[in-house]
Amino acid sequence: MSARIIDGKALAAELRAAVAAETQRLVTAHGLQPGLAVVLIGDNPASKSYVASKSRALVEAGMRPFDFKLPAETGEAELLGLIKKLNGDSAVNGILVQLPLPRQINTSRIIASIDPDKDVDGFHPLNAGRLMSGLPALVPCTPVACLKLIKTVHESLVGIDALMVGRSHIVGNPLSQVLLNENATVTVAHTFTRHLPELCRRAELLCVAIGCAEFIRGEWIKPGATVIDVGINRVTVDGKSRIVGDVNFSEAVEVAGAVTPVPGGVGPMTIVCLLVNTLRAACMQAGLPPPAV
Ligand code: NAD
Repeated sequence: MSARIIDGKALAAELRAAVAAETQRLVTAHGLQPGLAVVLIGDNPASKSYVASKSRALVEAGMRPFDFKLPAETGEAELLGLIKKLNGDSAVNGILVQLPLPRQINTSRIIASIDPDKDVDGFHPLNAGRLMSGLPALVPCTPVACLKLIKTVHESLVGIDALMVGRSHIVGNPLSQVLLNENATVTVAHTFTRHLPELCRRAELLCVAIGCAEFIRGEWIKPGATVIDVGINRVTVDGKSRIVGDVNFSEAVEVAGAVTPVPGGVGPMTIVCLLVNTLRAACMQAGLPPPAV
């Protein structure tokens, strides 16, 4: 058996086109061009490359980018001052502060200072609480991306046995809540979980976000299950560097019903979901109904 490969790149391209069309509609019908401020502090090469691709995607969708590049030695007070200014700027509908931040800056204080209605990363405690309470919220981009990929396989998740491996505030926790809100039966596994292979074998939907290269083996996967691999791990094989997921893809593809590849699965969708969240935030702030994407 060979699983269906969930083509995140192709689905991301489709979604990007829909976001661009919706942006154009907002500009034409309401004179509203969504704007996103992206704040990068320091020279972390990975962060620089993430920020560059986010800004590029934003411009391609017809949105307005506001880029802020600050030196690595920027102090917390200075960053709080910038966020306060952006919170009060009506042309800025979303604010993204690229993580990780330098050591002298307290990340929780920075996240808490962002206006929750402009928190397109969905990391503000108020948005986490809204998601928990089943209220409209800005939900972190990766879980939004995962749900969109899952929905290409399962129209409904009602009653499905789902296992979320990983419980970070960025991926695992919000994704397990997103699945619960879809009425899936959700189990959450983490570093202290015992008998992980047995738990995996029960899951009709297996989502993995742990940051351990090819950790989930094919023999752990229930035949026909849907596997969503969020992991991004750089490994060196025969002197060559490449990116792999948290799931052993070549084994998974023989057992699963559908599986996301790495790269080309969750990653490309995540960036587009940042645009989706920016559209949502802009509509919310303008008192318009949520966008049709
Ligand atoms: P994290 O380190 O914050 O959290 C990892 C979680 O996995 C923890 O809850 C931990 O308890 C659990 N865990 C670790 N080892 C485990 C094990 N052996 N068994 C069971 N649970 C275990 O990581 P994160 O920020 O959630 O990211 C996870 C992975 O997803 C990373 O590879 C990261 O690069 C990737 N990621 C990808 C995207 C994307 O867009 N594709 C976005 C965010 C993160």
